[in-house]
Amino acid sequence: MADTIAAIATPLGEGGVGVVRVSGPDSLSIMKIIYRECPDEVIPRHVYYGHAVDNEGIVIDDMVSIYMKAPHTFTGDDVVEFQAHGSNVSLRLILRSAITAGARIADPGEFTKNAFLNGRLDLSQAEAVIDLIKAKSEKPLSIASDQLNGSLGQEIASIRNNIKDVLAQMAVNIDFPDEDIEQVSYDEFLAELMKQQGRLGNLIKSAEFGKLAREGIKLALVGRTNVGKSSLMNGLLGEDRAIVTNIPGTTRDTIEESATIGGYPIVIVDTAGIRDTDDLIEQIGIEKSKNEINIADLVIMVIDGNRDLEDEDFEIAHHIEGKKVLLVVNKEDLGINIPKREIEKIKSILSCNSMLYTTVKTIEGIGKVRDAIEDIFAEGFFKSEGGNIVTNERHKDALVRASESLVQGIELLDMHEPLEIVEIEVHDAFQILGEIIGETASEEILDTVFSKFCLGK
Ligand code: GDP
Repeated sequence: MADTIAAIATPLGEGGVGVVRVSGPDSLSIMKIIYRECPDEVIPRHVYYGHAVDNEGIVIDDMVSIYMKAPHTFTGDDVVEFQAHGSNVSLRLILRSAITAGARIADPGEFTKNAFLNGRLDLSQAEAVIDLIKAKSEKPLSIASDQLNGSLGQEIASIRNNIKDVLAQMAVNIDFPDEDIEQVSYDEFLAELMKQQGRLGNLIKSAEFGKLAREGIKLALVGRTNVGKSSLMNGLLGEDRAIVTNIPGTTRDTIEESATIGGYPIVIVDTAGIRDTDDLIEQIGIEKSKNEINIADLVIMVIDGNRDLEDEDFEIAHHIEGKKVLLVVNKEDLGINIPKREIEKIKSILSCNSMLYTTVKTIEGIGKVRDAIEDIFAEGFFKSEGGNIVTNERHKDALVRASESLVQGIELLDMHEPLEIVEIEVHDAFQILGEIIGETASEEILDTVFSKFCLGK
């Protein structure tokens, strides 16, 4: 018989409420031992208030107990949750009572692993549980929530089923070439596989957004000294934090901070400057700034609208040519003195179409920049054609491999190679897609996936 597992499901520390979760066939009998006032007939999904006791009957804490009957539970097994005060001591004692009463301590992720093994979740959904717990802002949270609801798993399963139909039809063509069974033509196979390949391609493309959701969209602030970069950075970070600009001995360095804009996680880097210099230490800072600009997803170039442009502004513009750029003309409050044609010149170097006039010293001025950034994110980032966004590296890797096999199959079909050969590649794609949802995942894959979980999940 399967084990009954138990763990503290809430973070360790002081809190209003803490939860001990028990899952497995002995859950109910454990509740009867730990919950002093337990009735003979426990109604599933009812809330019972009373006291937790240890195995000698000594009261540990006030406690709410809920019994959830298999199979309609998170794990698919019988589950009992005990809610007590969020005290480390109280929760540990309740856990110890559960262990004494017959449970064993759960491994990290074991509740979710059981949910997967019992068919309550596919593997991509199980992995979304970790992403959801670890999400640092709203957008990654909502992507993880979609995945947990099965949207990605369903898309993969649907592609996989269509490939399976092709495989079945290929088998008919191979096994009964001369009989009266309707044969599917090479062109029909090609059309169907290309359709599925297109769907895989969209998912692979979406992984670019997934990476941004996971790691944050990188914004690099560039501009001459004194145009207002630090003020903008502080404003975007939402507080006037004192920025330690320089490592002692250097005069220029980059500064990096994380924040969110419109629910998107961002990493802002204030670059120190990119002007050529003979100073060796400054050169290091400049190299770093150039690297940051290269890897930035969006560059925000700030110019001082109150003063004439200088050569350095143009040097900077040339340096960020080809990047996605938002041009911020700052210090509007002091009056805009730059001639329009100068701004046009900068814009043409940047081939930039996002520009705004603002005063980053004011909250409204910062709000304008935020709105512009949000618009750029909404238009250019996080758009995927199928609606699903792949955030998990393991999924992306499998999608790329499946896609490569399918492309091979398509090329072989195109060359009118025998179906026996084509079929091998198509079958590979089918198998690899199964790894994502767990249909064909090895023990090793499962172990790697679930070892990333925290205890109690
Ligand atoms: P950085 O060198 O580009 O990082 O520029 P800072 O943010 O340090 O700003 C340089 C100076 O310009 C500071 O004295 C700021 O207070 C001032 N400043 C920044 N933004 C504005 C603005 O929108 N209006 C006005 N009037 N002054 C600003």
